[in-house]
This record gives sequence, C-alpha cells and structure tokens, in this order.
Amino acid sequence: MANFRAMPTERRKPDVHLNLNVRGMKPSATVAINERSDAMRREGREVFKLGLGQSPFPVPQPVIEELRVNAFQKDYLPVKGLLALREAVSDYHRRTQGVQSTAEDVLIGPGSKELMFLLQLVYYGDILIPTPAWVSYAPQAHIIGRHIVWLPTRAEDNFRLTADQLRGHCEADPARPRILILNYPGNPTGVTYAQPELEALAAVASEFRVIVLSDEIYGELNFEGAHTSIARFYPEGTIVSTGLSKWCGAGGWRLGAFTFPRSLNWLLQAMAAVGSETYTSTSAPIQFAAVRAFRGGTEIEHYLASARRVLKALGTWSAAKLRAAGATVPEPQGAFYLFPDFSGLREALRARKIRNSAAMCEQLLKDTGVATLPGSEFGRGPEELSARLAYVDFDGAQALSAADETPREQPLGEEFLRNHMRNVTTAIDRVCAWFTPKPA
Ligand code: GLU
Repeated sequence: MANFRAMPTERRKPDVHLNLNVRGMKPSATVAINERSDAMRREGREVFKLGLGQSPFPVPQPVIEELRVNAFQKDYLPVKGLLALREAVSDYHRRTQGVQSTAEDVLIGPGSKELMFLLQLVYYGDILIPTPAWVSYAPQAHIIGRHIVWLPTRAEDNFRLTADQLRGHCEADPARPRILILNYPGNPTGVTYAQPELEALAAVASEFRVIVLSDEIYGELNFEGAHTSIARFYPEGTIVSTGLSKWCGAGGWRLGAFTFPRSLNWLLQAMAAVGSETYTSTSAPIQFAAVRAFRGGTEIEHYLASARRVLKALGTWSAAKLRAAGATVPEPQGAFYLFPDFSGLREALRARKIRNSAAMCEQLLKDTGVATLPGSEFGRGPEELSARLAYVDFDGAQALSAADETPREQPLGEEFLRNHMRNVTTAIDRVCAWFTPKPA
C-alpha cells in the first residue's frame, strides 16, 4: 500500500519537491510585481509602484463607519450573500443603468475575481477574451481547462472589440457555447466603449447566444461619470460584474457582486453550490459595510466626482508625456491605467538588446526603479513593445482634499500633479527619459 506520509526533509529529493506546481502555474503577474516592488523598497531601493492596479483613494468615510459599527457581526452569512446587500446591488444597477433585476439575481462573493473563476468552472464553453486583457482571465480558464479564444483588438480601433470581429468568430461555429469577457473602462488600456459600439456587440452576442460577462469594476471611474452597461442592450444574456475594489478604494476588503439575467439563474445556483463547498460565505462585516457603499448618496457622489477629476488630469497628462517620448498611447477615458506601445522605438531598443516587452519592463525597473507590467502579460505578442502603467502611486486622500480646494472650473494642471502626485510624475519623467535615445 502506498505510504503518503511526508518524508523527513533531509531524505527529500529537492529537485522533485521544489519543482512541484500545478499545470505550470506561476503567481499572478499583478500580485507578483506588487510583492516584488515591496521587497525592493524594504531593501532600501527607490521604487515607483506602477505595477499593481490598486485604488490610491481611501474608502469613503460613511462606508468605513458602517464597517466599524458592524465589526461585531460574526455569523456566517448565506452563501449567496446578505439579503440587504443583494437588494442594494440590484437597486444600484436599476438606479445607475436602468437595468432591472431583483435580489434573487445577485450573487455576492469574496472578490469579483473569485466569482469569475467560479463562472468559468460551472460553465462548459469557450472563453472569448479580447486582448489586451486583464492578467487573470486566461490563467483562470487555464487552471480549469477551458478553451480560450483570443480576440486581438487593434490600436486603430482604440483597442475595442468590433462587432464584425465577434461575428467573424461566431459564424465559423454558430451553435458553440461561449462566454465573451468585456471589460470597460478597460484594464490595461483605460478606454471604454461608446453606446453604438455596445449596441452593435449586443446584437451579435444575442444572435449567437453568446453569454457576455460584463466586467464593470471600473464603471464608476469613467472620467465623465457616464458609464454605460451593455446589459442595457442585451439584458437577457449579460452578467454584470462589479465590486468595491476600484471605485470604493477597498481592494483588500475582497467583495464582488455578479448580477444575472433570470434565464441564467441556473449559473448563479451552480456557482453558489461551489461557493458553499469552498469559501462558505463572504466576510460578514464587509457585506454590511458594502450595503452602504452600493446605496450611494451625496457624500459618495462627491468622492467619486473628485476621484474622477484627479485620475482624468493625471492620466491625460501622463499619456501626453509618453506620446511626446515616442509611444502610441490610447487616450484614457477611465480607470487608472495607460497602455503605451513603444514599438516605434524598436530599432533604438534593439541596439540596447531589448527585443520584447518582458525584457523592456525588466530593464526599465532595473535602470529607473519604475515597476510596470509588460504587454505580454495582457495577452499581446511578446514582440509588441507595450506595457501597462498603473498611475496609482500617490496618496489619494491628500490628492482628493487638494483637488477639493481647487475650484471645479479650474483644471488640475501640471503644477498640481507635480505637487500632489509626485511619485507618478517622477516615474513618468523617468520612463520618458529612459526611452529617449541618447545623443551619440
Ligand atoms: N486588478 C488589479 C490589476 O490588474 C489588481 C488585482 C488583481 O489583479 O488581482 O492590477
């Protein structure tokens, strides 16, 4: 009979045990760059953290207060989530998008990332991922063994999937079950879709019965406060994903929510069954606090308006600087990411022995202390010299109060940005200088 007891350490063969991993997985790129940046800082190195996409802003005060008064909540909650929170999320979608649902259609989870994983687990179908795409969609599909279809978008289309592209893919095998993941405002590009583009995509998805997983985690960080959900045009086939991590500054609280059309309720039930066997339920105090966040109100609206103003000013300024240094950069419309492509500087980079985006970002970090992520982590070809810059390395509380002292009609100019978001402006200066060819 096999003996499964652990061998004493000294008798283990290190080559066997040290190489053990699951399906060749490595830690998520976003998590890895964050931990590496922190370790470098602990060693005393100067690091500009444009790697992990974490909100720089504090959690709004009323939401913190609600967490404080609910710290005593200690019981397990229902696996699908606290009823009051499910109602608040449903009401939030109705209020902000006019999309109808009830509490029955909402599933709460420990982060939308976990819910995405559960969805891929319970749904047997292809996963369609327009690229560039957030770093974890594909690894999740890979862990589960789902078939991934990459749909590369083009800079000329502002990195947006076109309805023709989706149709071209679906027509080849019309009846195949599929989930299309759409993320807008997008990580890593910061661009979003205009209403006619969403309508056109919705029409194709409906025709081929494609389920749309609409990742709207950055919806409230649309710079104009004008986010539009594709669920408005394809309510019967869209699952809307949101959470507290980005617009509410609470990434570490780990709270996400999916809202399903009634016809896909079987998916919600299946995901809840898996949830009940894995995490049981989402943190109780966090759910009580989240009710406050999704109910919104004047204070939260003010917080969001100020956050958008700060991010728009910083994103727009940074994109212009990078363009002047030779990159092509889509104009950011939301979230806190830029996706510059330095392929136009390929020859100069080749002379410095840099031939792919991974080598580019690695050398950039070594030479300048600016931590970024290579485009290859977002599903782009390794030879495309693109990178994601998360412009979040600043004190968000301080920036919000400084912005509030500046009259609304007055733009937050370069001086403001250099005073209150110095780490980011310095990082952008260093990136630009690093790419600028030195005179021979
Ligand atoms: N979504 C954020 C990012 O892309 C961080 C969280 C994560 O990746 O899990 O950087």
